[in-house]
Amino acid sequence: MLTTLAVLSACCLGLGADATAPDTAPAPKPRVLVVTGGHGFDEPEFRALFAALTELDVTFHDLKDESEVFEDIGDWPYDVLVLYNMSQKISEKRKANFLSLLDKGVGLVVLHHAIAAFNDWPEYWKIIGARYFLKDTGVDGKTIPASTYRHDVDIPCKIEDPAHPVTAGLKDFVVRDETYKGFLVEPDNHLLVGEDHPDAQREAVWTRQYRNAKVCYIQLGHDKLSFGDDNYRTLVRQAIQWAKKS
Ligand SMILES: [Zn+2]
Repeated sequence: MLTTLAVLSACCLGLGADATAPDTAPAPKPRVLVVTGGHGFDEPEFRALFAALTELDVTFHDLKDESEVFEDIGDWPYDVLVLYNMSQKISEKRKANFLSLLDKGVGLVVLHHAIAAFNDWPEYWKIIGARYFLKDTGVDGKTIPASTYRHDVDIPCKIEDPAHPVTAGLKDFVVRDETYKGFLVEPDNHLLVGEDHPDAQREAVWTRQYRNAKVCYIQLGHDKLSFGDDNYRTLVRQAIQWAKKS
């Protein structure tokens, strides 16, 4: 009898301990949609970059119709949208759906050549905070020459705001990558990283707010040289974590 009571007591204590144990279940991983298409890239190394970001739940989508991820957003499950596409066509319906996602607070991280995606859509320039010129273009009565680029440059990158979550822990670094120059930027971009090279425009990484969405643009990211770079990986990781829908 005593033995039975002892077993029961231990059992009940055990149950009680379980019921009051702190909830140690890990937080769900941010869901991230990475969109490519309209420009070639080093695909295995690009996927390896995201495979290294194990705290994220990443889905890749290679566009077949330039912008179809915005065709039906009724069951959109993603916290962050990462654009690495340079496709151009986007219908009025898809534009409205893209804006609706941003209204709902879906974060946006724009990498490298996605600065020149949807290049004829003025609102896209506002969303990302920049306008890249694919050809000589008349603006307000003046001709702005096509923006320029140069491959395989050792680019000195200066951390302009080390206190920001996207640049936390980073120090000035050099990475071999492609530069861009001659694009326009919105005045309310918050500059995080500057490039210091005559073939590069200074503005390289910035954040901005667009409606309810946090937006971060990262100019770096042409090929495997940056995909495997620790500083680049940190920027991409921290940009996604910062931008994610809260
Ligand atoms: Zn490139």
